[in-house]
Amino acid sequence: MMADRTFFVGGNWKCNGTKDSIVELIDQINEGPSIKDAPVEAVLGVPFPYMSLVSEKLRDDWQVSAQNCWTGDGGAYTGEVSVDMIADCGAEWIILGHSERRHLDVLKETDETIAAKAAYALGKGMKVMYCIGELLSEREADQTLAVCERQMQALKEAVSDYSNVVIAYEPVWAIGTGKVATPEQAQEVHEAVRSWVKENISPEVAESIRILYGGSVSPGNCDELSTKPDVDGFLVGGASLKPDFLKIVDSYK
Ligand code: PGA
Repeated sequence: MMADRTFFVGGNWKCNGTKDSIVELIDQINEGPSIKDAPVEAVLGVPFPYMSLVSEKLRDDWQVSAQNCWTGDGGAYTGEVSVDMIADCGAEWIILGHSERRHLDVLKETDETIAAKAAYALGKGMKVMYCIGELLSEREADQTLAVCERQMQALKEAVSDYSNVVIAYEPVWAIGTGKVATPEQAQEVHEAVRSWVKENISPEVAESIRILYGGSVSPGNCDELSTKPDVDGFLVGGASLKPDFLKIVDSYK
């Protein structure tokens, strides 16, 4: 972590929770220390039906995120949720390009679809966590950087203002597996992505953009990962469903 980039911890609840379990977790989070003046942003990625509930109950030094959005305005798009609706429910952020949306057979979102969603959401004034990362087979074939760069290139073709974007590097083999990347593996990719941004977008964006690590982050491994200069925070799945998530938010210290 570099002192001039504000540390960022996102929680991704995925398709989990009930009204009862969510109220219990929010109560526990609200009892934690205030981060109002702390150099950290904490954001919860909540399933659509619970966004309003969480926005109402969560302390206002924390923020709310959606986990997906529709690429256009409302209308005849059965089952979709527009960016205006997400904002109306109190969320400021949207997680886009999560590997489960890229790779699950029934979803298979393409680089172009994800980048178009990012451009649309940013145009509506939302903030975006843009996820990138390689499959195990791609890492084994030495394609890690090529995959991340291809995913970044798609974003570059759709977006010109990065002030409301954070990148989340999430190696797919580390997600939900308990197999966390080593701090060195994370740093290597984060540094390469930042160099790519420097050469292909601008040195200013490279300096300011936050690059989060995601994949089996836990209270036990977050402190060591956060010592790396290009790890600016985390996107956390399983561990964000427990009050222990506060310990991960605390790793900005
Ligand atoms: P995990 O998930 O922390 O449970 O590995 C991370 C993610 O999917 O964003």
